[in-house]
Amino acid sequence: MQASENSHDDFLFIDDSDEDEILDGSGGEAWQVLIVDDDPEIHSVTQLALSDLIVLGRRLEYLHAYSGQDACKLIEENQDIVLVLLDVVMETDDAGLRVVKHIREKLQRQDIRIVLRTGQPGYAPEESVIKEYDINDYKTKTELTRRKLVTTVYAAIRSYQQIAIVNESRQGLEKIVSGSSRLLELHSITEYTQGTLKQLTQLIAQGRDCLFCARGQGIIENANDLSFYVIAQRGFSAVLAKQKLETLKNEQINQQVKTCFTQQSHQYLDDSLCLYLAKGSYRAVIYLTLTEPLSDVQKQLLEVFLSGVAIGYENVHLFQKLNNAAYKDGLTNLPNRLAFVRLLDEFVKSDCNNDVAALIDLNHFSDVNDALGQDVGNQLLSAVAQRIQGLNGSCKVARVGADVFGIIGSSDYLSPETLINLFEEPFTAGEQKLPINACFGFCTKEHANSSGVKVLNQINIALNLAKKKRLEHFAYYNPDLEDETQWRLNMIRQLRTDFAEKRLELWYQPQLSLSSGKVIGAEALLRWRTADGNFISPAVFIPLAEYSGLIVEIGDWVVNQACAQIKLLKEKNFYDITISVNVSIPQFRRGNFVDTVLNAIERHQIKPSRLELEITENILMDDPQVIIDSLEQLKSYGISIALDDFGTGFSSLSYLQKLPLDRLKVDRTFVTNIAKDGQSVIAETIIDLGKKMNLKVIAEGIEEIEQQERLIALGCDEVQGFYYAKPMPKDEFLLFLEKNSSKC
Ligand code: C2E
Ligand code: MG
Ligand code: MG
Repeated sequence: MQASENSHDDFLFIDDSDEDEILDGSGGEAWQVLIVDDDPEIHSVTQLALSDLIVLGRRLEYLHAYSGQDACKLIEENQDIVLVLLDVVMETDDAGLRVVKHIREKLQRQDIRIVLRTGQPGYAPEESVIKEYDINDYKTKTELTRRKLVTTVYAAIRSYQQIAIVNESRQGLEKIVSGSSRLLELHSITEYTQGTLKQLTQLIAQGRDCLFCARGQGIIENANDLSFYVIAQRGFSAVLAKQKLETLKNEQINQQVKTCFTQQSHQYLDDSLCLYLAKGSYRAVIYLTLTEPLSDVQKQLLEVFLSGVAIGYENVHLFQKLNNAAYKDGLTNLPNRLAFVRLLDEFVKSDCNNDVAALIDLNHFSDVNDALGQDVGNQLLSAVAQRIQGLNGSCKVARVGADVFGIIGSSDYLSPETLINLFEEPFTAGEQKLPINACFGFCTKEHANSSGVKVLNQINIALNLAKKKRLEHFAYYNPDLEDETQWRLNMIRQLRTDFAEKRLELWYQPQLSLSSGKVIGAEALLRWRTADGNFISPAVFIPLAEYSGLIVEIGDWVVNQACAQIKLLKEKNFYDITISVNVSIPQFRRGNFVDTVLNAIERHQIKPSRLELEITENILMDDPQVIIDSLEQLKSYGISIALDDFGTGFSSLSYLQKLPLDRLKVDRTFVTNIAKDGQSVIAETIIDLGKKMNLKVIAEGIEEIEQQERLIALGCDEVQGFYYAKPMPKDEFLLFLEKNSSKC
């Protein structure tokens, strides 16, 4: 067994040829022909007869086997054999037929062409063998003149080539079908274009370097020009994705891609090609370097493949648009709440233990919207988004709600300090420079729960806590907060039912004049007695009522109760008793607070001056002007205004001056130790300030006579405290008044 090149032998079959295709067969690829015959002479004669023959542009190369067994082995070892010239009778009468069976059945090679030859016409194979095993030809050896042999070989190789083309097309189509369905699963533009390049190079089995290019605008994020950008690449040492094509600095490729775009057609060159894709409003060009020119079959397959790719390319853009609509915030172009939940899912799964997730809630954003209009509001949000994004490139930022942003990043850059710093400078929105504050909720990786939704909830819990804090406007989540939140929710639920079931009462704590010792009024204080008879302190439930908004309803009820009490006192001839009612921020925020108070006064037909509203100075931290306006209106009707817990808050004196006050209340903390040496400075200052501002000053929390003595010495006007009376139900208060008036 050996392979041999065409050799010239003297011995020839009868030469009846004169016009065979005998051309220069040197170099290039060759067709491998296996000659199987136990007669060595047949080998050399065949080879000689076919010498210099070029079939379909290729010369022939011979392999030789001298028995059926050898032939089988050779065929197994040489995948490229295209034709077997096969003797029928060799070591056995049917050795050749066994080779046929071996090729077709065992090796499953349907493409190899077989020409049977026999020296003895009597040993012709049965018709069934020829039918069954796809045998090209059957010849007796004497029939094989050079001309007939050439014709037979020619026909057989042509038939082989056709089978090969059909096979190649079939395999190509299989690749296209399976490749296309794989591509269909890819929904991001990057994945899709990357996948297309991969399938493409597999389909044509070459293409070392390739690029998927498109015009930037609308395709590449943040690109608003129409230059060519690379969307995906294979090969090429430089990273080109999302870069302009010109960064490749290859003028030839640049030019080819441009020509392909402008001529809107594929450009086939021997060493490269540019494929033009167009579907709907989406256009793209694929550039490929080739190691050899494409065959016609490859070109045809490419076109089929590309028509599918173009549809997929449009689909992936449409998908992206849908995705953007579902996962992007239209105003800031940032990921939205849904997308932030996904980012938090990744945060939970990542092993960056140093990472932290946070929510940033802008304070009073709705006021900006209401006062300056939605356009300015939008500009403000964009400016805030931009500044947050500038914190650190590695942080992931999202807009989670109207005025709430989410951020995930390393705690090296993401901390309360860095976020607070972001809000130090005012934001530019249109013509305006707006100082904006925010509250921050954090959740570290350590405490992050098992899913994005749960983590969002955790950060929310921290954010809500941050909102309630007076000094620091940030909080980190820790599991205890969750118990606290649960407790808070239960309390609010219970408060709501108990308020509806009229379990809330208004008690009264007398206020006395230090000069006359007479009761001049009372502070109305809420009491909550639960169904099991326990009292819950207002210090506990008032913040919950404020947080839940329930304080608005409860506050209305309190004002009405107080007015009813004033009316009752008037009927009992206590005309001069003033009832003070505590008012919380949410009541002012609602907008119609002034009307509610005036209606209550009207309904109970009482003198407005008998009603006093107690506000704390912290009320001013929220929205000074709105509150000052409301208070001025109330004051103009004769309602008295007192500043409660003075000295414990953070209001600036300049705002205090703007408040239409009648009374200052010195907080208990400044009264407790007032009788001790050197401990009365603050109380003294407040009393002096009150005097200078022409206000009455009342001290609260007097429990001992020494405190009263000191307050008299300091010139305080009025007092309230356990020393005189604890808060009491309304009937007891009436009795107390009657007793007090009979004493005076
Ligand atoms: P506040 O307005 O500063 O009320 C004075 C608090 O000091 C009352 O506590 C009163 O019982 C207590 N107090 C008065 N004299 C003394 C004393 O000599 N010693 C001591 N240790 N305490 C004294 P209370 O009733 O527990 O109310 C707590 C807070 O709850 C009030 O502080 C007020 O801010 C709020 N609050 C009570 N009722 C209402 C209401 O109807 N509406 C609103 N918004 N807040 C209310
Ligand atoms: Mg008060
Ligand atoms: Mg007070």
